[in-house]
Amino acid sequence: MRQEFLPYNLPDLGAEEEEAVIQVLRSGWISRGPLTQQFEMALSRELEGKAVLALSSCTAGMHLALLAQGIGPGDEVITTPLTFAASVNVIIHVGATPVLVDVEEDTGNIDFAQVEQAITEKTKAILPVHYAGHAVDMEHLNRLRDRYHLIIVEDAAHAIASVYRGRRIGTFGNVTSFSFYATKNLTTGEGGAVVVPDPDLAEKIRVLSLHGMSAHAWNRYGEKGSWGYTIEAPGFKYNMTDLQAALGLVQLRKLERMQERRRQIARQFAQAFGDLPVILPVEREYAQHAWHLYPLRLQTEYLTISREEFIDQLTLRNIGASVHFIPISHHPYFQQRYGWKRGQFPKTERFFGQEVSLPLYPSMTDQDVHDVVANVREIVLSHLA
Ligand SMILES: *Cc1c(COP(=O)(O)O)cnc(C)c1O
Repeated sequence: MRQEFLPYNLPDLGAEEEEAVIQVLRSGWISRGPLTQQFEMALSRELEGKAVLALSSCTAGMHLALLAQGIGPGDEVITTPLTFAASVNVIIHVGATPVLVDVEEDTGNIDFAQVEQAITEKTKAILPVHYAGHAVDMEHLNRLRDRYHLIIVEDAAHAIASVYRGRRIGTFGNVTSFSFYATKNLTTGEGGAVVVPDPDLAEKIRVLSLHGMSAHAWNRYGEKGSWGYTIEAPGFKYNMTDLQAALGLVQLRKLERMQERRRQIARQFAQAFGDLPVILPVEREYAQHAWHLYPLRLQTEYLTISREEFIDQLTLRNIGASVHFIPISHHPYFQQRYGWKRGQFPKTERFFGQEVSLPLYPSMTDQDVHDVVANVREIVLSHLA
């Protein structure tokens, strides 16, 4: 048994990040400034040169993307029940109505065949989530976009390293919002970035993200800065800071190395669990998985323990785990406001009922990986029905 608790997630932060943050502290410019711009340009270079705005969170990016494109009261926005509350909250924040559509059994991504049936006259947008880092079927999504003239806002919180048919998520012509929250594949502690293919829309979102201040006021830092600005809209305080961008620049340089380790661990898990009564996460032929999560699913009908008991057993053995996600339709606020009921999204509920997110992150040692494998196997094999 492990001596030390293995957390379900840890950020990969080292001497380079420490040094970068110290540099910012000593520079005297700790809020949005030159490093945030550098980070935006570095991200943009990775994403086929698309315009990128660094923000305070992925949530901020999704909120502004809906707002700036005029989504509001009377409009319906389709999203998935297998997601974090933020995906639905932003729809509510702009006054629109969230419409949930069930997921695909294998990927956990929203099922576009069912999305098409849910489109009404009021449908203005789709907000898909690249669950766990597995890209949604981008060709299918963009076909729906073009056929029904819909706005797409991609929740790419898990997908900074996700690839669809050889191209990175964020490069398919839709507003795409990434998260750099503490647990995500690339972290700035808190933070996010939004890719905005249309330059006018990018400008609108930029203004809204900093109090609604006129665009030139963004460059107030440095010698050529001036005190003048105008307010063009009642904006928000959603900017990134240079302290965060300094972390982001280092993390971006490390991203491919960190992804290689994630892929390696995912391969080891797949080899180790293939003979157990579990469902392994898939990687469809069009996708290169970002392995933000390793969502293992227990076939509890072949086991004498529940998913909850399984996680308790792992914890007792000093291994952390989590669950992604408690379905949106299970939360009391959403149930009361939108009338969603248990049983309404059967595939999401089954997925949720079986899912265990195992520890998978670049700083895990070979011993850590071995411990996860050995303990998962022991618990499953000692509880066969
Ligand atoms: C983490 C997460 C978010 C929120 O990201 P923030 O950067 O914290 O706003 C949104 N959607 C999903 C699916 C997430 O996992």
